[in-house]
Amino acid sequence: MSMSLDKQYVDQVRFMLIGFEWEREFVANFRCPLCGDSQKSAKKRRGYFYPDRKENVLRFKCHNCSEQSGWSFQFWLKSFNPAMYQEYQLELFKESGSSPKRTLHNDDNKLVAPRASTTARVGAIKSVRRLPDALSSNFTLIRDLPVEHEARIYMEGRRFPEWAYELFGYVDNYRDLVSALGIGSDLDDDGEFLKKVPNDRRIIIPLLSETMQLMGIQGRAMDKNATLRYATAKTNPDHNKTFGLHRLDRKKPIIVVEGPFDSTFLPNCVATADSNLLKFDGDVYIPDNQYRNRQICEGIEKIIASGKKICLFPPNVLWKDINDMVTKGGMSQGDLLRLVAGNIFQGMKAKLRWADLRKV
Ligand SMILES: [Zn+2]
Repeated sequence: MSMSLDKQYVDQVRFMLIGFEWEREFVANFRCPLCGDSQKSAKKRRGYFYPDRKENVLRFKCHNCSEQSGWSFQFWLKSFNPAMYQEYQLELFKESGSSPKRTLHNDDNKLVAPRASTTARVGAIKSVRRLPDALSSNFTLIRDLPVEHEARIYMEGRRFPEWAYELFGYVDNYRDLVSALGIGSDLDDDGEFLKKVPNDRRIIIPLLSETMQLMGIQGRAMDKNATLRYATAKTNPDHNKTFGLHRLDRKKPIIVVEGPFDSTFLPNCVATADSNLLKFDGDVYIPDNQYRNRQICEGIEKIIASGKKICLFPPNVLWKDINDMVTKGGMSQGDLLRLVAGNIFQGMKAKLRWADLRKV
């Protein structure tokens, strides 16, 4: 390990750190993602990476909270972003030339120990919450489907992270589920609403609030010829179709994408299920990589005009969305994060980049 490898990895996660800036070659300043820095001031940046030249590593400290202060970057990365940490491990054994297995199994021994506070523990990553039983008892979780079930085969084909199988469900009859959950009943329209709900086999995408309240469900048709590929039923007509609120950590930058399935491949990511990504107030926006689609182009222009950060994929990325980058492009989560991190633009730079991409 070395400060320069640490620095290389800092550069790969910096897009997730608000207000990030290298102040000197090995000193970086940013808004502390652990304590959120300051509730009152959006400008305060009290998180730092600084060099420990004796151990040849970067260390972390925050002048607001003492959480993880003195941790080596590697330790810090392990809790901040486990996927990137795995990539870092791979890099380490490439460097050392030792066998991957041995290095990975003993990785904890190789970490440079925290120096200051030893009471801080790994565990800053908020775990994915399980669906409330009152909801999931109405359908079958993908996890519980037999391995040969078509919905399970379909989902596995999309190579979701393991935990996603506990967040999505399946029903034979979508209309029955909407009726059982009582969604739309407040419309009091003599069952007219329900009649329009497709009564077919669907994958269930639950839409939960940050406090795990049911805001609605979305059903993705299993039948390729279904007239409505995605059907949405909301508990309140005013709710947005946002997916992933229940796994958000407000202290960290929030990534916004369009597809609920796509959102599971990125950390702290929500999906608007709508090509107008600005419906959700996030930090980094990743529109689908379909720069010839008019709706998507309009969305991109709105995001750029809003001054928000946007990920614009380079022309050599051929896949239309994040899920395809994983399934067809064979990208790991680390590859994906690197790609996103390397292609974030804002303001004038975003305008210029977009103008270039539109010429391709
Ligand atoms: Zn802090």
